[in-house]
Amino acid sequence: MNRPIVRMTDLPLQNKVLVIREDFNVPLDASHITSDARLIAALPTIHLALQNKAAVVLLSHLGRPVEGLWQESLSLAPVALRLSELLQQPVRFERDWLNGVSVNPGEIVLCENIRFNVGETANDPSLAKKLAALGDIYVMDAFATAHRASASTTGAVHHAAQTCAGLLFMQELEALSQALIAPVRPILVIVGGAKISTKLQLLAQLSDTADLILVGGGILNTFMAASGLPIGASLVERNLIPEATAIIKKLHVRGASIPMPTDVVVAKQFARGAIATIKPVADVADDDLILDIGPDTAAAWALLIHTANTIIWNGPVGVFEFPHFAHGTRIIATAIAESHAFSLAGGGDTIAAIEKFGVTRHISYISTGGGAFLEYLEGKTLPAVAALQDAYKAICRN
Ligand code: AMP
Repeated sequence: MNRPIVRMTDLPLQNKVLVIREDFNVPLDASHITSDARLIAALPTIHLALQNKAAVVLLSHLGRPVEGLWQESLSLAPVALRLSELLQQPVRFERDWLNGVSVNPGEIVLCENIRFNVGETANDPSLAKKLAALGDIYVMDAFATAHRASASTTGAVHHAAQTCAGLLFMQELEALSQALIAPVRPILVIVGGAKISTKLQLLAQLSDTADLILVGGGILNTFMAASGLPIGASLVERNLIPEATAIIKKLHVRGASIPMPTDVVVAKQFARGAIATIKPVADVADDDLILDIGPDTAAAWALLIHTANTIIWNGPVGVFEFPHFAHGTRIIATAIAESHAFSLAGGGDTIAAIEKFGVTRHISYISTGGGAFLEYLEGKTLPAVAALQDAYKAICRN
């Protein structure tokens, strides 16, 4: 997990052609970019290249096209336009680039969606070699794709004459290791979301180190059922109750805890306009759906959040998209924002909640990597990180 990597700042970049693998997988409505957060996150790396008078070739995927077929709706052309506005300089868009692009120092070229090429997902070596041959240095900066072993995320790293991690990639790794490798205790973990099956490995991994775990959302229902509490007709994965029980036991043995709520917000239907009722946990009826933690629980958990020195947050604690069931997630988000702890958050819905409740600036680090963020926290080796570490080792050998 902690082997060294060559950083972009370690290499002389002057007048080199830098091929930078970015994550420009932005949300699009027709050809309109609805959030340019991923483009903004990439700017420091591009600026560093330009300050060094490097020539810049940018690669990214967008969506999940069928390889080998160009598809207008998944073209990166709108990204080139928005990027040139953000950088205040032209970004040349190249549709036909695989056999080489001409680019001068100080110029920027954005190549069409890498996933239009056959072999990207399967990490085809001939494609990877072509990507590596596009420039002098291959810079991996797309942390959000680090959990995928594709031609542009690992293959080209292996084949490049010189390779390094970009500024965003290193920033992500450093924030994650601050929370995982040498965290300041107490460590508090908040895991919410719909299904425990998608977060089980994360919970199992973090229950080895966390001092306190707060679970919310549909996941909480499975833990409540495991604790013998009534959950009515709520979303639950009964087959995973034994795993939830094992996690509770493991935490108790370690002297850590996973508190259950004292009150919840229920409804009779899963609907935006459903009537919300606050109930003590013991009063949950057979036809109730638990859609949020109750206000007493939220207030008690906010106090717990204030005792932590490290906070890791993934997943809303209720159906925060519906106003009547957003209170718990709002209180949790606000408590994290007010906390003095190092706070790390990530995941699509978590970022949506952070933005909705206006606390973005008060979270210590918000990861851009949804799947990569989760897999790193689960203790998995991310293929792109391993490829960069191998490249470092290869340099030391030579
Ligand atoms: P995930 O993608 O697994 O992080 O799940 C996020 C989704 O879980 C959000 O869209 C929430 O609306 C949903 N969610 C949160 N709490 C509940 C709940 N109690 N029952 C059903 N869905 C929930």
